[in-house]
Amino acid sequence: MAVEIHDRRAIERLKRAGRAAAGTLQRVGARLAPGVTTADIDAWVRDDTARLGGKPSQLGYHGFPAAVCTSRNEVVCHGIPRRTDVLADGDILNVDVTTELDGYHGDTSATFFVGEPSAEARHVVEVARRCRDAGVEVVRPGARLGDVGAAIAELARKEGCTVVRDYGGHGIGRKMHLPPHVSHVGQRGSGMRLRAGMVFTIEPMINLGGAEVRVLADGWTVVTRDGALSAQFEHTVLVTDDGALVLTDPDAPA
Ligand code: MG
Repeated sequence: MAVEIHDRRAIERLKRAGRAAAGTLQRVGARLAPGVTTADIDAWVRDDTARLGGKPSQLGYHGFPAAVCTSRNEVVCHGIPRRTDVLADGDILNVDVTTELDGYHGDTSATFFVGEPSAEARHVVEVARRCRDAGVEVVRPGARLGDVGAAIAELARKEGCTVVRDYGGHGIGRKMHLPPHVSHVGQRGSGMRLRAGMVFTIEPMINLGGAEVRVLADGWTVVTRDGALSAQFEHTVLVTDDGALVLTDPDAPA
């Protein structure tokens, strides 16, 4: 399946979906505190998304049982919100919000500190954020998809962290997950050439220990094999005529 080049009308809708997801993520993130359960977060995401006239894209996706992924500490991604999952001081928590609005999807995540983080936690979270931004930085027409992964992998290595290889970013549009697959460990100068109008996510999962992961018995929750911390940040990005536009920037003008 070819990678879609979105027209102006589709891009307007992708911008609105991206802004909706980014707004929900920001509002939910501001409410995190010790004692909050990840089931509370799921309820907040459902309410906020409905208030915006959208639908949580993740709900029921391949049977996923919640409206949002909540991935705490050694959980890499796809954590399922639960009543029994109570946030504690010192935790790090990734909240991954995908919103469908007017037939198009916006996908974004951030890792938040709950209370006071350890120096280690602060490091892996900051490196994950910088890796996401380093990937976005190289997006422009004519660049290769491998340039994105290479920029991320080089920064992670320099900072003593590892990059998860089993999961990547993805094209997004009328469906949450579309081609291309966006590896976060690509080779510079390799892979698909980027063209204006392409829209995809960049969402590196960065580990403090080894890159290896495993999936828990619930069939969804991905954790680091060594139990070390993992952090992730995600933006939905449009390739423009001369660079990139982040569609999930919470500070972008409406
Ligand atoms: Mg995604």
